[in-house]
Amino acid sequence: MGDLEIANLTKQFSDGSGTAIVAVDDLSISIKDGEFLVLVGPSGCGKSTTLRCIAGLESASEGTISLNGTDITHQRSRNRDIAMVFQNYALYPHMTSRKNMGFGLKMGTDLSSDEINERIEKTAKMMGIEQLLDKKPRELSGGQQQRVALGRAIVRDPELFLMDEPLSNLDAKLRTQMRTELQNLQTDLDVTTIYVTHDQTEAMTMGDRIAVLNDGELQQIGTPLECYHLPANRFVAGFIGSPSMNFFEMIQDRDVGTLVNDEFEYSLDATTAKFIAEVTDTLTLGIRPEDIRVAASGDENVLTVEVDVVEPLGDQSFVYFKVGDQTYTASIDGEEYIREGTEINVVFPQKRVHVFDRQTGEAIKNREPPEAAQAEAVEFQDSTSFAVK
Ligand code: ATP
Repeated sequence: MGDLEIANLTKQFSDGSGTAIVAVDDLSISIKDGEFLVLVGPSGCGKSTTLRCIAGLESASEGTISLNGTDITHQRSRNRDIAMVFQNYALYPHMTSRKNMGFGLKMGTDLSSDEINERIEKTAKMMGIEQLLDKKPRELSGGQQQRVALGRAIVRDPELFLMDEPLSNLDAKLRTQMRTELQNLQTDLDVTTIYVTHDQTEAMTMGDRIAVLNDGELQQIGTPLECYHLPANRFVAGFIGSPSMNFFEMIQDRDVGTLVNDEFEYSLDATTAKFIAEVTDTLTLGIRPEDIRVAASGDENVLTVEVDVVEPLGDQSFVYFKVGDQTYTASIDGEEYIREGTEINVVFPQKRVHVFDRQTGEAIKNREPPEAAQAEAVEFQDSTSFAVK
């Protein structure tokens, strides 16, 4: 069992001159037994502080943290049944992998040396690191050190794994490989895991659900596809997805059901126009690069744009184009031949556009979600975004 309940967690620090820094602001999240939750957000948004509060390495200023119904908010770190994996591995340099893996068990349990050794051997075998057991950290590569650090967490058989950017010191290829390994391991062990990263690709590919933080506040929690297709606000829309969503500041023309700015006019479908007419006039139109198409005859909402730069990737090309003095991005099928310095006609399909309230940033209208996103959300019954928008 590893049900974790974070309720109204707030953590303040003082900056030295007495000014309070609110690192985590009234955060509430319920994490189900066996779930892989990714905490994602930009640098300084409070991810590590949240994790450290759960681990007991920081004390909460307000709020509670409960594990399997027991309030652990003020419990000492070593008494929490939680194992943490850090970015810098944090292995003891003078100890072999075997000793590193066994240290926590030796200090924190009544297990005999034989029992500890048995657990280490079993874990090492499962992780394929038996040959590393008698080596010291300096004899290991970064990837091997991280495997040992993971082994050290696994051998403790905790209720909860906390992982703070565990793969960021590895090169890109190894990171991708370890990502898959870690996911398989987590599925096999079925231990609740909270994984911190600032990398949205890692969040999208690894999490059962992702919690997006900004300035210490929870912006959205949902399945990866929910956050991608149905962002709660402009921040999530811009943070999840790469390249980022394009945003255009618009004013609503209620009489004709369009959004306008100095450069172009975008006509909305009747349902969206009616829906939007009931809210504010100052809006942001959002469209993901991968949802922009080169126009075909008969298309509505055709926009002629000047191509600035083309980055061919093979299967697709990133086309950077100008509207007014701003640059935007389209991800266009690699088979389209597009030349820099020319004009092309592009379309933002009505079913794919997002509309946000410019003042609050809240999503007013999201794109139509594809079936895959809905199916994924059904697995996590408490996901509510599909009902809301
Ligand atoms: P990163 O991805 O860069 O590690 P993060 O999202 O993990 O960032 P935190 O390390 O949790 O962010 O920091 C959140 C905020 O709290 C930041 O503004 C940071 O400067 C501040 N902070 C963190 N620890 C302390 C501390 N011990 N004393 C004062 N301020 C702190």
